[in-house]
Amino acid sequence: MRVVITGGAGFLGSHLGETLLRRGHSVVAVDNFVTGRATNVAHLVGDRFALVEHDVTEPFDIDGDVDGVLHFASPASPVDYLKMPIETLRVGSMGTQNALELAQRKGARLVLASTSEVYGDPQVHPQPETYWGHVNPVGPRGVYDEAKRYAEALVLAYRDNRGVDASIVRIFNTFGPRMRPNDGRAIPNFVRQALAGEPVTVSGDGSQTRSICYVDDLVDGILAMLLETHDPGPVNIGNPHEISMRDLAQWIIDLTGTSSEIQYIARPTDDPTVRRPDTTKAQALLGWSPKVSVETGLERTIAWFREHPEADEGHVLT
Ligand code: NAD
Ligand code: UDP
Repeated sequence: MRVVITGGAGFLGSHLGETLLRRGHSVVAVDNFVTGRATNVAHLVGDRFALVEHDVTEPFDIDGDVDGVLHFASPASPVDYLKMPIETLRVGSMGTQNALELAQRKGARLVLASTSEVYGDPQVHPQPETYWGHVNPVGPRGVYDEAKRYAEALVLAYRDNRGVDASIVRIFNTFGPRMRPNDGRAIPNFVRQALAGEPVTVSGDGSQTRSICYVDDLVDGILAMLLETHDPGPVNIGNPHEISMRDLAQWIIDLTGTSSEIQYIARPTDDPTVRRPDTTKAQALLGWSPKVSVETGLERTIAWFREHPEADEGHVLT
């Protein structure tokens, strides 16, 4: 198969491209590098892997056959999308439409990277796909949450109205190598701070929870959704291992063996209090469940951060 990955030079996009290549497929990664980096995929570029610099909010075409489109372009860290609110709304709306138009022209299946954020600050726990969510459209996170909710509606419209084999996955917090140490998300922040012996910043009292998935498991779930079904979704992909941010910070401190201590900082507005995927549908539809323990994932991530102290150099947002 030949697969176009928008956001292909980002954290998740680069792992998806790497795995597709390893399984014998061809990849065209399309990225404007606002939060991703060419160095994430430099080792992949070759006969079966092309990297194209393009802002997908502008229409684009790809020469030749395309069998799959993974639409992953979007700032994803709250720090990033709050710096780029209009860009985030544009890539969720215009970017998604351009990706769907490409899929329609090529007769390709499309998978939209949606998010657990469509559930907002959830009042149902854990969250099944049938839950409609609890989102503040005019709060600071609205630019991301509502862009993804609009993108989901667009996928369904292209599916029903234009016959595109388009689908939705709702991704829960995923971590691993190639996250930018300064991207602002909890795990890269905690690991970077712990390795530097700096205070590890936990927001609020740290009792809020997230459920965290190692990137290799996430990639397996996304590729199953692309390659093994024509189901529209939405399907939750995430590890139900739920943990408070205070316990996560302490765990990372222990795993790194640092002398860092926890420093409590202000909690962001509308920060969700709990989050955990109900993965019944992913198991039934895709036979998917996470295989990598959170501890193993954290150890691999810490090792990568240790080996790549240069990981944030030269990046526009640092
Ligand atoms: P990332 O920031 O590492 O990757 C996003 C990529 O998209 C970057 O390479 C960036 O340069 C590119 N991009 C952004 N706007 C673009 C545009 N207009 N044109 C072309 N490229 C553009 O983030 P990530 O964690 O890899 O997230 C990838 C996708 O998965 C995003 O759509 C995000 O919303 C979604 N997602 C991620 C998580 C997670 O935990 N990592 C959770 C839920 C959803
Ligand atoms: N968080 C934290 N310290 C940090 C960065 C984030 O305590 O240095 C908290 C954040 O307030 C939230 C949780 O960790 O409660 C997860 O934040 P992240 O940005 O990783 O993901 P999201 O909020 O999008 O799920």
